[in-house]
Amino acid sequence: MRADLHVDTLWRLEEKGGGLTPFRDDLQIDAKRCLEGDVRLLCTAIFTEDQRKDPWEHCCRLLDVKDRISDDPGEPFRSVTTPAELADLDQGVTGMLATIENARCLEGDLSRLDELHHRGVRMLGLTWNGQNELGQGVLADQHQGLTTFGKAVVEKAAQMGWAIDISHLNHEGVVDVCESGAPVIATHSNARTIHDHPRNLSDEILRHLAEVDGMVGVNIFPPFLAPPEETATLATVVRHVIHLMEFLGKGHVALGTDLDGISNTARGFRDHRDLDALANALDGGGLESQVVSSVLGDGFLHWWSNWSAPLES
Ligand SMILES: [Zn+2]
Repeated sequence: MRADLHVDTLWRLEEKGGGLTPFRDDLQIDAKRCLEGDVRLLCTAIFTEDQRKDPWEHCCRLLDVKDRISDDPGEPFRSVTTPAELADLDQGVTGMLATIENARCLEGDLSRLDELHHRGVRMLGLTWNGQNELGQGVLADQHQGLTTFGKAVVEKAAQMGWAIDISHLNHEGVVDVCESGAPVIATHSNARTIHDHPRNLSDEILRHLAEVDGMVGVNIFPPFLAPPEETATLATVVRHVIHLMEFLGKGHVALGTDLDGISNTARGFRDHRDLDALANALDGGGLESQVVSSVLGDGFLHWWSNWSAPLES
């Protein structure tokens, strides 16, 4: 089972219109390439920019795009909210799991979580890089951690069976989320020890994540992989994977490419067509075939099954 924990395709489609099938060379993801890469699950981000004036309306428009694709019999994509729904999909169909990226779309209203749940959202990224009503992102000037509202959102989301995505959240916020008891994931983040970038996770944060059985998806955007004077390649991706595994364990590192949200990719990874090449690079890095399969999707599926099962039944 192959999964990508973070793609920005809905955000692009909301701007451009249209569906995903069969081949769209103006996007990095479409039906043909998902089929070629054998991608079974896309975690489709509902991304709202920090500056946007109409965050809730924008969020709803992205969910409308997801529904339209999912309802179109000509599109081999279907919305899913549980591992069981994913398992029920026909061969050649890719599941879409909706994840919020920047909860400023809530506009301070806790009850919006109910509506988002109804519309299929199951993961929640609290902030983008700036500050919002819930807390601060990695580039915010303040460092207080989660606000009272942010803590209430995390508590309610966890009660509804969602995971909390800490990919853009600052250090203090991540510590608060890890203390909350919610399932914690960084859908598209790398290791700061391998490349020192504010979007990457420090070893201290990785220790916190390991304590709560957290999951991390590795990002293939070159600025998050290596300094500008170095070319980021598949081997660089493998270095990040191995470092993350040393802290989190073999079953807790996955892939969160950020495709359709990034302008370029690691050399050797154009898009999902190169998942086999990535598998070979992981194999070349000394990972056993079971661990390679885990990184490409099996690990996330196992982790998702653990946190979603009790609350969905
Ligand atoms: Zn992001």
